[in-house]
Order: sequence, then structure tokens, then C-alpha cells
Amino acid sequence: MAYLTLKNINKIYPNGYHAVHNFNLEIEKGEFVVFVGPSGCGKSTTLRMIAGLEDISNGEFLIDGKRANEMGPREREVAMVFQSYALYPQMTVYDNIAFGLVLQGVDEDVIEERVTNVAKILGLTDYLDRLPRALSGGQRQRVAIGRAIIRKVGVFLMDEPLSNLDAKQRVTMRYEIAQIHKETGATTIYVTHDQTEAMTLADRIVVMKDGYVQQIGTPYQLYFEPENVFVAGFIGEPPMNFLRGTVMDGCLSFGSNVLDLTRKFPGITAWEGKQVVLGYRPEAIKLGEAEGYVVSGQVELTEMLGDYTNIYITAGSDQAILKVDSHDTPETDIELTYTIPMDAVYLFDGESEKVIAGRNAQN
Ligand code: ADP
Repeated sequence: MAYLTLKNINKIYPNGYHAVHNFNLEIEKGEFVVFVGPSGCGKSTTLRMIAGLEDISNGEFLIDGKRANEMGPREREVAMVFQSYALYPQMTVYDNIAFGLVLQGVDEDVIEERVTNVAKILGLTDYLDRLPRALSGGQRQRVAIGRAIIRKVGVFLMDEPLSNLDAKQRVTMRYEIAQIHKETGATTIYVTHDQTEAMTLADRIVVMKDGYVQQIGTPYQLYFEPENVFVAGFIGEPPMNFLRGTVMDGCLSFGSNVLDLTRKFPGITAWEGKQVVLGYRPEAIKLGEAEGYVVSGQVELTEMLGDYTNIYITAGSDQAILKVDSHDTPETDIELTYTIPMDAVYLFDGESEKVIAGRNAQN
């Protein structure tokens, strides 16, 4: 197990593209950190700089407090699992898992013991004699993970390891990856564009956009205390509802509903005549009239998804999604009244998109 330090890490590709800007992070021993963000935001680039597969243009990377910028991939003692499984097609599962140790000249007895153990952890015991082509996608990905964990390295790097699997397999493998982390205790960095994977696996999440870190925090912090509109909208499913507009007499309107923003944050008067964004989560509302902003809108569509229903609402030219218990599914085309409790309301500056008032903001 190792701890990692990234100090002001930057990546400028040879073509001049600045893919990662001033990335700062301390990763503790045994921590599971997820880099999440839309495609092209610099997650893989950062991971590859940590792996030693890509030069660090600027800044310092330390492993256990020692500068590692100039170390080669092997010297860093990291193992990486890629999106494509990259298994050797002509080798059995056993040989694929054992390959790294064979190259290192490890004793056959030791190899056999380690492969047996890894196969047990990954549920591959009955498949050791098979070739990769005779395995399902999920099993192949497990072999790829097995090949990485057998090396007992200090740091485990995974780049979108589940993206070639179907939805059901992804849920199973997610659970298995969490179990493997519990068993091995290896420091892990995991890259994904999927907020659900990030929320379920991470001790801490790093949200990235356009090469910049947007926020670093626990899943709880990112969900309840987003620092800007991007993080608020990226974490959570369906995403947070946003109402963008100009503050007039301390108010913002949602269709014909007028929301008095001073109830949430008296200081909002300083934004008079300026753009703000009001946010609330689909699951935070209460149907009917209660304490908070009581609003109404037209039900355009409902989606019953088992235990809950998504309701698509319009009010004038504004839209929102509400998530309610499926027993409360309304008819479509009716006027629905609901309440946004004050502690579920977030206010963001319309220009910087930074939070002005939220759940724990000092106001
Ligand atoms: P992500 O993993 O978040 O999808 P990447 O780290 O792969 O994003 O890429 C970040 C940005 O850097 C993208 O805009 C991508 O096009 C660019 N990029 C990646 N590799 C190179 C390269 N070798 N040369 C120039 N630009 C690159």
C-alpha cells in the first residue's frame, strides 16, 4: 500500500493541448479514489501520468513522499486495468493471470498458490483452463483484474474497467471490485464517466471538467454540498433541477410561480438585477402544500420505474423533473402542486456558477 501526492500537476500534450490544469490531491494509503467527469475532461490523462505512461508536463508526483516524476512504470509498482481487457487470446485463464509473475521469474509453486487464491477471490476457479474466447465479458474483465491484483502492488489503477459490460454485469462487477478492495486494501484510483459507479465505489470522488478539478469530496459531500452548478448537476440521478433567471425584487419565477429568494438567503438582495441559478433535487420535493416554496406545474409525462416515478413538469417555458414514490404517480396533463423544502434549495451565482447558499452554507 502506498500514499500518493499530486502537486500542481499539469499536462500539455506535444500538440500544445493543455489537458490537465493544476491537479492537487493527497491520496491516503488504502483509499479508493474515483476520478469522474464527462468524456475528454482529463481523467485518463491524469491516471496515465500516475501510471508513468505519460510524462508530467509540470508539477510533482510523489509515491510515499518520494518524487516519482522520472520513475518508469515498473519502478512505481502500480498495476493498471484498462477498458479493453487486453488478454492474451492463445493463453488460458491461468496463464493470463500468472503471466506477470512468470516474467518476474517467481517460483512455480508460489505462482500456483497466488493464482489459486486470486481465482478464488474473483470466482474464476472453474475457468482456469479456458481460453478467453470461451468466457463472458464479465469473466474476461475479472481475468484482467486478476492479472493486476496478483502482482501485489501498492497502487491499483483502473480506467473505465466496466464500460464493455452490460448493465447487469456492471452492477455485479461493481460489487466485486468493492469486495476486492476490501480484501486487498490496495490504494486504488478508478476512472469513470458514470456518477453511479463513482458514488457507490469511492471513499472520495474527484469531479473534473475541461481539465480542471471542480470539487473533491466524499459522495455525501458532493451530493449535499456541491460547490458549483456543474457538480450539482453531474452528481445525482435524475440530475438536479435548475431554474435560471434574473433576480427581480428578490424573487425568481418558475412559470407563474414567484419564489422569494430572501427566504432562503437574505443576502440575495446583492444579486438584484443579476443572473442566479436556483437548484433542487427531483427527490427532495414533497407533493402537495408544505413548508417551503409551494409551486405548481403541468404534468407532461410520468415514468414508473418500480419503487419510484419520474414526473416531467412544465411551468411556462420552465421544466423540472420530480422523483416520487410510485404509489403517488399522478395522472398526466393535470396541474400538480408540490413543495420545495427550503433546506433542499441551492442558489448559485449565474456568472461564476459557484454556490451562494446551500444546505450547509453559512447563511
Ligand atoms: P477522459 O479520460 O476524461 O475522457 P482524456 O484524459 O483521455 O479524457 O483526454 C483529455 C483531453 O486531452 C481530450 O480533449 C483529448 O482529446 C486530449 N488528448 C488525449 N490524448 C492526447 C494526445 N496524445 N495528444 C493531444 N491531445 C490528447
